[in-house]
Amino acid sequence: MRAEIIAIGTELVHGQKLDTNSAWLSRRVQELGLEPTWHTTIPDDLEVMIAALDLARQRADLVIVTGGLGPTLDDLTREALARLAGVELVLHEPSLRRIEELFARRGRPMPERNRIQAMIPRGAEVIVNELGTAPGIWMSVPRQPCGCPRDDSPLSLGLAKPRTLVIALPGVPSELFAMWEKEVRPRLQKQLPGRVVVREQLLHCFGLGESAIEAKLGDLTRRGRNPEVGITASDAVITLRLVARAATEAEALALLQADEAYIRQQLGELVYGAGQEELQHVVASLLATTGQTLATAESVTGGLLASRLTQVPGISKWYRGGLVAYQTPVKADVLGVDKELLDRFGAVSAAVASAMAERTRQLFAADLALSTTGVAGPDPDERGNPVGLVYIGLAYPGGVHTCEVRWFGNRLEIQSRAAKSALNELRLHLLRRQPAPLRA
Ligand code: ATP
Ligand code: MG
Repeated sequence: MRAEIIAIGTELVHGQKLDTNSAWLSRRVQELGLEPTWHTTIPDDLEVMIAALDLARQRADLVIVTGGLGPTLDDLTREALARLAGVELVLHEPSLRRIEELFARRGRPMPERNRIQAMIPRGAEVIVNELGTAPGIWMSVPRQPCGCPRDDSPLSLGLAKPRTLVIALPGVPSELFAMWEKEVRPRLQKQLPGRVVVREQLLHCFGLGESAIEAKLGDLTRRGRNPEVGITASDAVITLRLVARAATEAEALALLQADEAYIRQQLGELVYGAGQEELQHVVASLLATTGQTLATAESVTGGLLASRLTQVPGISKWYRGGLVAYQTPVKADVLGVDKELLDRFGAVSAAVASAMAERTRQLFAADLALSTTGVAGPDPDERGNPVGLVYIGLAYPGGVHTCEVRWFGNRLEIQSRAAKSALNELRLHLLRRQPAPLRA
């Protein structure tokens, strides 16, 4: 079954305000087993609203409208819905009393304009809004034939067949959320033919591009599969989103577990975490399980490593601290990197990354030290090193290891990706050097 979400607000279309309601509603609709197929964002313009609603009712089984239920002249959702259904607006007495009470409780008289919020299309039902003045509207409208008739639709949603359910909710996010949870979700759940449980899992990878990762997964990402597996890339992290649909929660979770096991087997160390986990969370828990302390010395990342590590609650037990050794003389005079080394190889070099890590390990009396040095751009450095070239150093008991990475992107992207590369180097080191689990 298909759902369409229509967000109404001139400020949304003009780009002054981000439409977050559609994203939120899209997730909720999927939880009910419906497929969000269209998002439409339109201004507070009656003709445009009617046109969008008319199209939506022909192609979707459920249309959810957000916004335009306020008391001001530009709030036209009620009017548009009445026009769509070909009915007039009528006063809903209980809603008017609620609105009057709301004003009375605030010790203010109700402005005459708010009366309009109690007007609903004849034949529609009201969705109570406990947090604000605008009630929501629940109604069905005939589904008109369109160019591509879909008379095979399994829709019932409690309606005689060729009708589309239209639900209008306020634009204020807190009101929308509360009304969905309290009224809309339970009611839709009851009306949906055969309950479908939808569960999702996110798996995050670092170290390869999205096409290379997809190539390792066979036909897992083909459309129409259950679970459906989608791949997205964001700031060098590749995320696999698994969405399983089943009759029961246990079945949906079993489908997810089977796919997750296969993905982890195929991708190995490339998968660093699941759900909301980020690299710093994984590093923090590996530090805790191995009982090792860490310090950082940053040049190109300018403190990002320290910032991300300290986002993790409880990290103070393992993270001793860090230094932003940005200018070359600071690398020499404060951190104690050999001046000759800096002259010979330049600040952006594996040799300097290595020395930075070793010196930091001593200076902070830590078990491990991580360093970054590189060129964030926009121009190459004075030695002609290209933008995006980054060296990472990792000092550990008994050795030091360096790696070279090349990132594309603007200055902030390169800094962020360099910090992630450094955290990932540390993660791999900690994983590989964990004592092997005892065998029974
Ligand atoms: P209501 O239906 O409750 O009257 P409205 O659209 O008429 O909503 P507005 O005054 O336009 O009321 O918006 C109320 C608040 O809700 C504003 O802060 C607005 O930016 C926010 N808002 C409206 N639509 C959205 C949306 N799609 N996503 C996020 N915020 C929204
Ligand atoms: Mg609005």
